Amino acid sequence: MNRYLIALGSNQRHVRWGGPRAILRAAVADLATRQLVVEGVSAWTRSRPLGPSLREYANGAVVVRSGLEPREMLAVLQAIEVAFGRKRQGQRWRSRTLDLDIVLWSGGCWADEVLMVPHREFRARAFVLGPAVQIAPRWRDPVSGLTLKHLRARLTRRAPPPR
Ligand code: ATP
Ligand code: MG
Ligand code: MG
Repeated sequence: MNRYLIALGSNQRHVRWGGPRAILRAAVADLATRQLVVEGVSAWTRSRPLGPSLREYANGAVVVRSGLEPREMLAVLQAIEVAFGRKRQGQRWRSRTLDLDIVLWSGGCWADEVLMVPHREFRARAFVLGPAVQIAPRWRDPVSGLTLKHLRARLTRRAPPPR
């Protein structure tokens, strides 16, 4: 069995599901139908957008248990993104109805041409670490050896983000 920490983000409405929080809620319900067990769900938080998009994000995190291997898990997450109206082509960080990223995997590190786990940027992202700490505070980053709780404390001790 594998365990995954998945980060969720949305900053666009969808005609069917409504606003970002409703989209995250529906995405978790969808996840639960796909060969995995949702073990933990964080509260939703708000964050300012990275890069070119302007709308505020809703973010959250879930822990899932599954027999799926990392590349299979990525394929499932991408299928859900598409089901929620995400357009695959185009630039990174553009506005999106749904982003599902693998942050951590119980197997440790994975790196190939399409997937890198742990997620490259998660240690510097409060919108990932905040929700993640709610559901998996003691999970250790295999690269730094630090727990999520420790990583978040380290991040929030630094200068606050620009306003
Ligand atoms: P960021 O990765 O900075 O959060 P993003 O989530 O907006 O940016 P996407 O457009 O969703 O980026 O994904 C771009 C590519 O990243 C995907 O096609 C996927 O192959 C790759 N990728 C690499 N590592 C991961 C990971 N850990 N989780 C999800 N996608 C990943
Ligand atoms: Mg992302
Ligand atoms: Mg992504």
